[in-house]
Formats: sequence, structure tokens, C-alpha cells
Amino acid sequence: MKVLSRFSVGTGDRFGREGIAQIEAFRMLAEKGVDASIVWNKSNREHIIIGTGPADQRKSADEAIAATGFKGMYAVDADHIGLATVDRFLPYCDFFTIDVADFIGKPTEPEKMEAFAAKQRRLCGDTRCPVSIAEADIAAGSWKYLYAIQEAANVYRKILAGKPDGNFHIEVSLDETDVPQSPAELALILAGLADEGVPVQTIAPKFSGRFNKGVDYVGDTAAFAREFEQDVRVTQWAAQALGLPASLKLSVHSGSDKFSIYPAIRRTIQKTGCGLHLKTAGTTWLEELVGLAEAGGEGLEMAKLIYRRAYARYEELAAPYAAVIDIGMSRLPVPKIVDGWSSEAYTAALRHVPSNKAFNPDFRQLLHVGYKVAAELGQDYLNALEAHRASISRNVTENLYARHLCALFLD
Ligand SMILES: [Zn+2]
Repeated sequence: MKVLSRFSVGTGDRFGREGIAQIEAFRMLAEKGVDASIVWNKSNREHIIIGTGPADQRKSADEAIAATGFKGMYAVDADHIGLATVDRFLPYCDFFTIDVADFIGKPTEPEKMEAFAAKQRRLCGDTRCPVSIAEADIAAGSWKYLYAIQEAANVYRKILAGKPDGNFHIEVSLDETDVPQSPAELALILAGLADEGVPVQTIAPKFSGRFNKGVDYVGDTAAFAREFEQDVRVTQWAAQALGLPASLKLSVHSGSDKFSIYPAIRRTIQKTGCGLHLKTAGTTWLEELVGLAEAGGEGLEMAKLIYRRAYARYEELAAPYAAVIDIGMSRLPVPKIVDGWSSEAYTAALRHVPSNKAFNPDFRQLLHVGYKVAAELGQDYLNALEAHRASISRNVTENLYARHLCALFLD
């Protein structure tokens, strides 16, 4: 089993060009005495849109590590895979995020469900368990989650067959669904995964509130804080009582930019001693745009071109992300206006500094899903990244380090 550090961060890098700048943020964190592992995550959907494959993802990661001499742990994540998509990731990845959200609520054979429920009744009245689980929770939860648990086990067994040394990290994700899982449901899911022999080290439940892409959390932050701490205590209990790996911890998906809940996450880390995996992806792609815009000249022109095209194709670009963005067309500046913007105006609208009055979350979210436009620019886009390397790297590092790593892991 591959075991990462207590803290780990998913650093999605859509075009595979920011590894060195991302590593710099982790080096700066290590200098402050905090070690966090780097996990380069990329989903099949991102690979298809961008035209890359897991081999490219592995190559970018290994090259960045070699170029910097980074001594910390790192992994390459097959993000949101399932039985149908895992194969091509197997040779290149050592972290697998098994996504079973689509299987929640699918009925399975009544006998299996009954056997599962009978077994899990041991959780009722278990005083060590940090949440109380009633008979009714077991019955409802078995119906809702058994299929998903079995699916996770099937995918795990397929990964193990392809990588018999077992030297990889297993995450199970349930976040891409509409209804959050309660801490009691999380306990039941972990019990089921333990029974199936899935060595889950990170689990990504759906939390209450909205985790929109690239912008802050929307919801009741106090309620989130309570739920998050309960979930943490459930994972700590599960590691001890259910025989799951001691490294088991929560994974927060769409975790970048959720500045209003970072204080609660940090307090829970300090209070409980828990670990954390936080997944980010598009926040780094947006810093490429910030860096291009900040560089001025042709860089700024390219940033404007990408916005113009993204605006024209709003519906197509937003459709696959409908559940995780909230864009008001009326709040978006029309491209004609943006075409007249200076570097300062563009970066102020895009850079995630909520206290800046010029910051525009709608503009930011549209560009977040607009990476397809950059992918279609192909080599022109990649050339622009290299032409404006200094300004882009500075922004990628600063965003990860100051706004994310420091906020989560430093006092
Ligand atoms: Zn996710």
C-alpha cells in the first residue's frame, strides 16, 4: 500500500506545465515545517477534453519532481474512474479515485441487502462510534449504499489484478451527487468497504453546501464545521474499530478556493489530529490565465481571446459542470468590454481575492470551465505559457501557497 503524508493536496494541472511552480509552493510549506504530499489528479473527462492521457500526466509529474529535486511524497491520481475507464490509467497511476456516486440508490438483490443490514446492525448501540446509528439508518442506508459499496470493491479488485504489488492509494468518492451523506451514512459506507476488504485511505463524501468550481463555499459555514468534525471522527473511529488503514482521512473535492471554510478545517485538524486530502484542479489553470493577463501584450490578448470564445460557447462549456457552477449570464461582462481591459482590470476580475470589489465570480467560473477553448488553441496556447513563464509560475505558486496551503496548514 502506498501511504502518503498526513496532509496531501491534489494539484490538478490540466495542461501538465505547472508542476515545477506547484512544487515550489510545497517546498515553501516544508520550509515552515509542514510536510504535505503532492497528488497530480486528472479525470478521464479532463484528459478527453484536453487530448492527453495518463502517460502524459505521469511524465509531467516525474519530470517536475526530477527538475526540482523535491524530496516529499507524490502520486499520480486516476481521478473519478470506474470499471469502464480505469484500464488506461493502471500502468501510470498510483492513486485511484473510485467514483461510485452514480451507483447510490441502485437496488441490489434483496438477500444480499438483508445479509448486509444484518451484519451492520452491530453498529447500533456501539458506544465507541462517534455518531449514533439507529436500526432505521441501517435499513435505509443498506438500500441506498450497498450497490455503490459493491461497485467500489469490484473496481478495487480490478486495480489490484492490474497492480498485484498493491503499492497504490485507494480513494472512494461519493461527492458528485445531489444529496449529502450524513456522518452516520459515512460510518455505514466505511463499514461496508471494510467488510469488502477495500483498503480505502481517503473518502470523499458529499458535504452540505455548494462546492462550486473555483469560487468560495456557499452555505452555512457553522453547520459545515459541525458536519466536517463529525465526519473526521467517523474516519478516526473507522480506522481503529473497523480495521481500515490508519492513514484513513477525508478528501475534500472541489476543495480549492473554499476560503470561508478553511478556518473550520484548520481548527478541526488541530483539535482532532486528523489528516486531510484536499483536491484542487482548475484553480491552477486559472492562474495560467492570470499570469498571461498580467504579462500584458500577447499574453493579455490570448486571455481576452479565451474569454471571448468561452462567452460565445457558454452553454456548451457549462453543461458538463452544471451541478458545480452558478453563473449568471447578466453578471458577465460582454467580451467587447473585456477587450478594452488593461492587465490590472483583467487580473482583478479573475484573481480570487474576495475583498477586491473588482473580483467577478461569474467571470471566474466561466473561465474555469473554458479550458476547452485553450485546449483547442493547441500549441499556440502551450507556446504562450512558455513565453510568459515567469509571470505564470509566480501566480501559480502564490495561489497555492498563500491562499491554500498557508490557510489550511499554518497557524
Ligand atoms: Zn470530485
